[in-house]
Amino acid sequence: MHVTIIGSGHVGLVSGAGFADFGLTVTCVDSDQQKIETLSRGELPIYEQGLEEIFRRNLENKRLNFSTDLKSAVQRSLVIFIAVGTPEGKDGMPDVSQVESAARSLGKYMDCYKVIVTKSTVPIGMTQRLSQLIKESQTREVNFDLVANPEFLREGSAIEDFMRPNRIVIGTESEQAAAIVKDIYRPLYLIETPFVFTNPETAELIKYACNAFLATKISFINEIANLCEKTKTDIHHVARAMGLDKRIGPKFLHPGPGFGGSCLPKDVLALSRMAETMGAPLKVLEAVLETNEDQRDLILKKVQQAVNGVEGKRVGVLGLSFKPNTDDIRESPAMKLCAKLLENRAYIRAYDPAAMNNAKMVMNTERIHYCTDAYDAASEVDLLLITTEWNEFRNLDLERIKSVMKNAVVVDCRNVFEPNKMTSMGFYYLAIGR
Ligand code: NAD
Repeated sequence: MHVTIIGSGHVGLVSGAGFADFGLTVTCVDSDQQKIETLSRGELPIYEQGLEEIFRRNLENKRLNFSTDLKSAVQRSLVIFIAVGTPEGKDGMPDVSQVESAARSLGKYMDCYKVIVTKSTVPIGMTQRLSQLIKESQTREVNFDLVANPEFLREGSAIEDFMRPNRIVIGTESEQAAAIVKDIYRPLYLIETPFVFTNPETAELIKYACNAFLATKISFINEIANLCEKTKTDIHHVARAMGLDKRIGPKFLHPGPGFGGSCLPKDVLALSRMAETMGAPLKVLEAVLETNEDQRDLILKKVQQAVNGVEGKRVGVLGLSFKPNTDDIRESPAMKLCAKLLENRAYIRAYDPAAMNNAKMVMNTERIHYCTDAYDAASEVDLLLITTEWNEFRNLDLERIKSVMKNAVVVDCRNVFEPNKMTSMGFYYLAIGR
């Protein structure tokens, strides 16, 4: 079977490479010509663990193709996935212009029955609404079915998530389209992946509800961590004991600088706005968002207090991506903290194992110096801030770090180090909720 994926960003690329690895012939289309040229040359524009290998393998066996020619790709394919961006739009509602533009092009180019699948995170009701747009763009009547098939992959472990998902959600009113999309995921039956069949609107809400719930866990544990600091209690023990409760589970119970990335912030805001306009406000999500903003201010306050004001001080920052194992800095808490430090006239020495190039493109002043490694970033600084929990930071030679710092002050936003050990080594060490 031949499938087309419109949008070769994080989701489009991972899904394209994944489907090709399942044995399908895939054409990934993007309107960004430079991106398509890069991909066709065999170069990846993003860093994602494990992607390189399946990308290369399927490029070589010609099951994975890249093109800007949507018309030919559509006419070759039975199934077309829409995986374009749905960024935050006006008033926090999702900006669906990329999805609409893809749908109009599909209407124009389809020449026989097609299954059109929204893999992008789209507002409740959007998949069905595309029907009208597609029909308006058709020059002659051609049948098609619509399916909502939201993507749940996590950046940093996207390949693992795509190959071994917790579940596949297929939302459609058409039995035929449900069977065709299910068939695409056939290799996943072997590993007994659960499939949830439902209507498109429910599938769309499932995606938002999942992200909103994960964000809620993060804001909740951050507030409990702040309470720990006031009560001399230890968030590690609280979170561990909570996580051992099977009704709660251990994931997303790590305190830190708040949630970020290209999905959680915009999806929580979008769900909150949608719920409000639909007359069923989600008050809990307003609080989740507010707590998330406040968390960054609390960390800045902690940094300010630790060095008696950051103005003119040198601050080392370890980690710029929004989480480890990715170079994605979209809505990264680390970048937001850097921006706050710069606003407060600090000098930054920053290091990240993968996200430096992306960071340089958006944050480039003489007050920020991009370093060659963690020791370089710690060199002569008044304070070291741990912002992203890359594994290589867990294994730092702390004696060496201390020896290159001007003042041995560490604010650890990810609770990477043991407070007792840090204190006994002579660091002035502040973590979150410990
Ligand atoms: P992205 O912004 O990285 O990529 C989108 C791509 O679509 C870009 O390359 C852009 O050039 C291309 N594009 C836009 N309009 C186009 C058009 N009309 N024709 C062809 N190409 C077009 O986005 P992403 O991170 O891959 O996310 C895509 C969708 O998946 C979003 O709705 C997002 O919320 C959702 N999602 C993302 C993740 C994630 O971890 N990134 C996880 C699950 C779901």
